Amino acid sequence: QLASREYRKETREVQFGNVSIGGNTKNTILISGPCSVESEEQIQQSAELLKSLNLTTLRGGCYKPRTSPYSFQGLGLEGLHLLAKMREEHGLKVITEARDATHIDEVIEHSDIIQIGAKAMYDQGILRACAKANKPVLLKRGFGSTLQEFVQAAEFLLSGGNDQVVLCERGIRTFETKTRFTLDLCGVAYLQEYTNLPVILDPSHALGYRYGIEKLTKACVAMGVDGLLVEAHPNPSVAKSDAAQQLTHEALRALKTAIEPVAKSV
Ligand code: PEP
Ligand code: MN
Repeated sequence: QLASREYRKETREVQFGNVSIGGNTKNTILISGPCSVESEEQIQQSAELLKSLNLTTLRGGCYKPRTSPYSFQGLGLEGLHLLAKMREEHGLKVITEARDATHIDEVIEHSDIIQIGAKAMYDQGILRACAKANKPVLLKRGFGSTLQEFVQAAEFLLSGGNDQVVLCERGIRTFETKTRFTLDLCGVAYLQEYTNLPVILDPSHALGYRYGIEKLTKACVAMGVDGLLVEAHPNPSVAKSDAAQQLTHEALRALKTAIEPVAKSV
C-alpha cells in the first residue's frame, strides 16, 4: 500500500510554493484562520494576523458541511474570490474545503491545498476528483472512521495519482459528551509509525471549546506532528460557525509564543 512505511520509509514531503509539510524538515506548520470566510473585512483581519505572526497558510471554509440546513452554509464562490484576494495581496497560501463534487473544480482552482473534511472523507466523488488534481490535499479523518478506513481513503488519492497527501486527526466520536469529540493521540502515534504521510492535528474541532486549545497544541507538538490546524476569528462571539472553539487573535498570538520552545520551528 502506497501510504505504508513498508512502501516508503521516509515521511513524504508535501510542498506548495515555498511551504512544505513533513519530510525531514521536522518543522511544525501552524495553519490558521476562521472556520468560515464571512466577509472581506473579516478575512482581511485574519490575513493580517497571519502575516504579523510570520505564518504562511490561511485557512477558511467557503462551502461549509453544516449539520443543519438552517445554519450558515458559507459564501461559496464569493468566499473563494476573497481568499484569492488575500493570497494576492498578502502572499499567503490558502486552504479551503471541498464539501461535495459539484464545486470541486472551483475549489481546486482557488486553493493551494484542498481540504477534504471529516464528513466528506468517504466521498468517492471528491476523493477521485482530488486524486486527479495537481494540488496537495489535506484529508481529515471522519469522526466515525477507523484508522484503517482513514488510511484507505488516503489510498484513493495516492493510487489515483496524487502523492501530495497530508493526514489530519480532528477528533473522533466517543461516549463522551463534555467535549465535542475525542482527540485520538493513540491514532496519531499509529499513523506516525505505520504510514509515510505527514500528520497534522486539529485540536479546535476535537475539543470544541477555546479553553484548552493551547495545552492540547503543546501536547500535539511534543508528539512531533508535522503541523497544527487551529481556528481563530477576529471576533469569535459573532462567528457564523464554530463560535465556541475559535480563538481570539490575541489568544492565537499567545499560543504561537507558547509552542515555540516545544516546536523546532513554527
Ligand atoms: C472545518 O475544518 O471547519 C471543519 C468543518 O472540520 P471537520 O471537517 O473536521 O468537521
Ligand atoms: Mn470549523
